[in-house]
Amino acid sequence: MKYKLAVIPGDGIGNEVIPASLEVLNSLSAKCGFELEYQHFDYSCEYYRKTGKMMPEDGIDRLGQSDAIFLGAVGYPGVPDHISLWGLLIPIRRAFHQYVNIRPVRLLKGIESPLRSPGEIDFIIVRENNEGEYSNVGGRIHEGTPFETVVQESIFTRMGVDRVMNYAFTLAEKRRKKIASATKSNGIIHTMTYWDERFEALSMNFPEIEKSKFHIDILCAQFVQHPDWFDVVVASNLFGDILSDLGPAVVGGLGIAPGANINPEKEFPSMFEPVHGSAPDIAGKNTANPIAAFWTAQMMLEHLGEKEAADMLMGTIESLTAEGKVLTRDLGGTASTSDVTKEILRLISKQ
Ligand code: ATP
Ligand code: MG
Repeated sequence: MKYKLAVIPGDGIGNEVIPASLEVLNSLSAKCGFELEYQHFDYSCEYYRKTGKMMPEDGIDRLGQSDAIFLGAVGYPGVPDHISLWGLLIPIRRAFHQYVNIRPVRLLKGIESPLRSPGEIDFIIVRENNEGEYSNVGGRIHEGTPFETVVQESIFTRMGVDRVMNYAFTLAEKRRKKIASATKSNGIIHTMTYWDERFEALSMNFPEIEKSKFHIDILCAQFVQHPDWFDVVVASNLFGDILSDLGPAVVGGLGIAPGANINPEKEFPSMFEPVHGSAPDIAGKNTANPIAAFWTAQMMLEHLGEKEAADMLMGTIESLTAEGKVLTRDLGGTASTSDVTKEILRLISKQ
């Protein structure tokens, strides 16, 4: 098979971890007999500084011709976050109906969790990615007066809620058959009660799945105290966003946290991006941990249907962490981005 990949390294460490991942992908394609054709796009904050836009008018159309989009990180000091978000990430997620955002949270062999968890940690956060609290409906009235008032609306549609929940239930069916829903219906009485209602209704189609419901505040506490309880966690856009930074933190941090924006029907390309941002504090120093990007590439291979390569890459990442010799600083080692990349390439070549 031959796949067309749209590659957007973006900003900061994206420019280090994405090229490293392409080397790894190349070695896997040679080994497992599939072809990758890369098309590089320089959409980023740098592009914004030059043109006043995060991507050109036809950016979406051009990306739409690919089988998958592989993105490093966008965002950099000096460019407000809402510009990179609303100028690039959100348009891509919405144009390509990437309504599921998945973030696996799994404690890899050899990695120490900052928590003393009683059991194994292995769950997946399924975040609604297209609507909910992140809407541009709202505004200000009586500006500049003592009555200044700001309104921000959340939008939950039946189609939007049902499709992400169905995805989460179906995923739980293939895993340990447990699902937890993040809610806050005691405080947010319109949208979150609707969220709970749909969760209840859809759960009827999946009677064998053990379901539970947590208010977001206690759910955050349980992620810390009992991360071993969870299998699939389904959450709205905002709650999912918060949980997806907390989840990785309990299994070793952002340096190893993968993520994907999925269009389950495969009508449009899905986008694969590590959870971390551009990390300006360490950018350009060859110290970023490339594992988050490698694991993200692994999810992309799985989505494309290259199971052999995906399994080989996951196994290789885990041999590297289990061995514990070539690790970057965030994991307590001294290795550089290139050292980790070389070691992964060496381990792949031995298989
Ligand atoms: P952005 O605005 O693009 O989201 P940020 O300032 O929020 O950037 P993040 O990239 O989210 O920064 O990173 C938060 C912290 O985690 C930083 O201190 C960063 O150095 C660290 N970090 C993130 N990714 C990695 C990585 N791959 N390897 C090592 N450290 C990382
Ligand atoms: Mg950030």
